[in-house]
Amino acid sequence: MRTEVAEFVRKTGKAPQCGFPAHRELAAGRAPCRHCLRLIRVNEEELFLLPYDPFQELGVPPLPGPVFIHRDN
Ligand SMILES: [Zn+2]
Repeated sequence: MRTEVAEFVRKTGKAPQCGFPAHRELAAGRAPCRHCLRLIRVNEEELFLLPYDPFQELGVPPLPGPVFIHRDN
């Protein structure tokens, strides 16, 4: 996920492609961050969970799936 997209989610609390609220919580299980590609530390770091289609720019039918990103950088 591009940095501008992750920053949009962190700033607005919404999924960028559909406008749904992004779910925010303390990481409770294995969750790789789609922005920095590191694991979000369980019981230490907060995350956003949101629907995201990484191939939307290619013009293929939208196939959003759930992704995680760190709440903070
Ligand atoms: Zn991250």
